[in-house]
Amino acid sequence: MENQSHRFDILSAEALRNHHLNSSLERLRGGLSWTRAAALEQFPQFDQAKVRAVEVKDHCLRHLDHYLEQLESAVTAQGGQVHWAIDAAAASQTVVDLCRKHSAHKVIKSKSMVTEEIALNRHLEDAGFEVTETDLGEYIIQLRQEPPSHIVGPAIHLTVDQVAQTFAEHHTDHPSARRPERAAVSDLVTEAREVLRSRFLEADVGITGANFLVADSGTAVVVTNEGNADLCAVLPRVQIVVAGIDKVVPNARETANLLRLLTRSATGQPCATYTSFFSPGGHAQSPPDRPFHLVLVDNGRSRLVGSEQQDILRCIRCGACMNHCPVYAEIGGQAYGSVYPGPMGAVWTPALVGLERSAVLPAASTFCGRCESVCPVAIPLPRLMRNWRAEAHERGLDPPATRLGLRLWRWFAERPGAYRGVTRAAARGLAWLGRRHGYLRSLPIGRGWLAWRDLPSPEGQTFMDLMRGDERLQ
Ligand code: SF4
Repeated sequence: MENQSHRFDILSAEALRNHHLNSSLERLRGGLSWTRAAALEQFPQFDQAKVRAVEVKDHCLRHLDHYLEQLESAVTAQGGQVHWAIDAAAASQTVVDLCRKHSAHKVIKSKSMVTEEIALNRHLEDAGFEVTETDLGEYIIQLRQEPPSHIVGPAIHLTVDQVAQTFAEHHTDHPSARRPERAAVSDLVTEAREVLRSRFLEADVGITGANFLVADSGTAVVVTNEGNADLCAVLPRVQIVVAGIDKVVPNARETANLLRLLTRSATGQPCATYTSFFSPGGHAQSPPDRPFHLVLVDNGRSRLVGSEQQDILRCIRCGACMNHCPVYAEIGGQAYGSVYPGPMGAVWTPALVGLERSAVLPAASTFCGRCESVCPVAIPLPRLMRNWRAEAHERGLDPPATRLGLRLWRWFAERPGAYRGVTRAAARGLAWLGRRHGYLRSLPIGRGWLAWRDLPSPEGQTFMDLMRGDERLQ
C-alpha cells in the first residue's frame, strides 16, 4: 500500500468537488444516524448491553489464545479445517491454495472487510480464478473496480444513475439490461439478482467473512440483509470462511448481545434480515462431507494486544463512527485511501500498514468525540487517534510545518506574558486586515483552511484578556 499522506490531500480535495458524492453523502448524513437514534429509543437496555459487550470483548482479548484454541478444536471436531495466516499475503495464499486443491474455477464471495484488507480478489484473479462479489454494493464496486467507501454500505457513495450506468456498461448481453434513464432502484436490484443467480449456481467455492466466531461451538456468524452469504455458504461444493482473530467470542449468549448492538448501530434494525450460523457440515442442505475451511487472519492484530491501542480490537464493524463523523460526511470513504475509512480506519490503518505510511489519517479528525459517543463497544477513538499522532510526532513523521508550529506554540505557551502579547498583536493585525469586509479570505499561513471558508475578523478583546477582565486592548 502506498503512502496515504499526500494521497489523502489529493483525494479529499477531489471528493469535496464531486457533486455526485456530495448528494450521496447528504442522504447518509441524515439517514443512518437518524435510524440508529430511533432504534436506540426502542431499546432502553442499550447501555447495559454495551457495558456487557465491552467486558466480554476485553475478556476475550485477555484470553485470546485460549478462545482461539477452543475455536480450532470445535471446528476440527466437526470435520472442518482451520488455517492460521500471520499476514495478508499468507491469508490470500492460503485461500488460493485451497481453491487449487479443490480444483475450483469459479468463486463467489459475500461481503467481507477482511478479504478487502488482504486484497483477496486480486490474488484470486491473478491465480486465474473467476471471482464474483454477491453483496449488491460489493458487486457494483467490483464492476467499477473501486474500493468500498463504507464498511457497511460499500457503494453508498454512488447515485442510482451511476449504478444504472455501470449496469448498462457491464450487462450488455443480459435480457434485462436497460438504458440508464429508465432505471429504477427495484429494476436494478432485479437485474443484479438475475445476473448473480447463475454465478451462485455455477460456483465451486463460496467465501464468506464472519461478524463473530463462536469459540465453544466452532460457528461463524454472518449478518446480511440480502441472504447472499447463505447462498455462498450453501450452494458451492466448498465453503471457506475468512475472519480476523479479533472476531472470536466465547459463546452464543454473548454473540446474541453483540448482535443486538451491531444491527441497531449499523442500520437501526433490531436484527438483520439474515443472521446465519455456519459450522462444518452444519447445513441441512449441504452434504455431511462438504469441505469447510476457516482461515484465521492475524495481520497485525496480535501486535495490538496489550498495547495502548488494544481497544480498537473490540470493533464490531458497525460503521456508526463514520456515519456520525463530520469529516467522513464531507469527503466519503474513498478519500482515506485505505480499506477502513472514517475514525475506526484512522486507528486501524496505521496498525495494518504502518504509521510511516498513514500518519495523516489520525490527524484527519475534528476530535469532536461523536465517534466515541456512538460506538457500541465504547472504543475511545479520539484518544487512540491522539496516541498515533503523539507517536508520529515523536518519530518525526508529521510535516515540518506542523513541527515548527508546535515548537513555536509550546515556546509561547510556556511564557504567558509573551503569549498574551502575541495573541493581542495577532488579533489587532487580523482585525486591521479584515477591516473592509469584516472577514479574511487569504493569509500567508492556513491557506488550506481558508480555501474553503472565510475567517471572520477578530472583534474586541482576546479570550485571555476577557478571562482576566483586562480592558487594556480597547
Ligand atoms: S469503532 Fe465502534 S462505531 Fe466504529 S465501526 Fe467499530 S464498533 Fe462501530
